[in-house]
Amino acid sequence: MSSTASKLTQEFYIDNETDMVAFGERLGRAFRAQPKSLCVFLNGDLGAGKTTLSRGILRAFGHPGPVKSPTYTLVEIYEFPERRVYHFDLYRLGDPEELEYMGIRDYFSDGSICLMEWPERGQGVLPEPDVLIDVKVEGLGRKINIIANPEFTFA
Ligand code: ADP
Ligand code: MG
Repeated sequence: MSSTASKLTQEFYIDNETDMVAFGERLGRAFRAQPKSLCVFLNGDLGAGKTTLSRGILRAFGHPGPVKSPTYTLVEIYEFPERRVYHFDLYRLGDPEELEYMGIRDYFSDGSICLMEWPERGQGVLPEPDVLIDVKVEGLGRKINIIANPEFTFA
C-alpha cells in the first residue's frame, strides 16, 4: 500500500454474523459517500467472514439479498442506479495475467466500487487498495483491521 504514513489503522471486534453484516453496512455507507472509484481489499483465510462483510457492504448500496462468492466466475456485478459494485473472489485465479485478459483496468472506473476477496492472487496486476480490510477469526468472533485514508472513519 502506498503512502502508509498518511493511512489510519482502525481495529474492531465483531461478535457474530448479524453484527458482521451490520458492520459491513456501516462500511458500505462510508464507501457510498465517496464519489470516486474505490478498490477495497478483503484479506483473510477461508471462512474468515469476507463474503459476510461484503453482504453488508452491498446492503448499504441497496442489495438486500444473499451474496454468493464468485469463486468460479471471479466477479459478480451489482448494478445500482448511481454506480456499480464489483465483487471479486480471486481464490481460483491461476495467474494474475488472467486479470489483464478480462480487462481489469476497466473495472476501476466510473465511480465503481471493487470489493476484492483474495487480492493477493492478483498481485502485480491489481492497483493499490484505497481501503485494506483484514479479517481474522478470534475466539467466537472476528477481528477486523482496516487501513485507509483518514476520510474513512467507521467508529
Ligand atoms: P469468507 O468469505 O472469508 O470465506 P464467509 O463470509 O463465507 O467467509 O464466512 C464464513 C463463516 O463465518 C460463516 O459461517 C459466517 O456466518 C461466519 N461469520 C462471519 N462473520 C462472523 C463474525 N463476526 N462472528 C462469527 N462468525 C462469523
Ligand atoms: Mg468468500
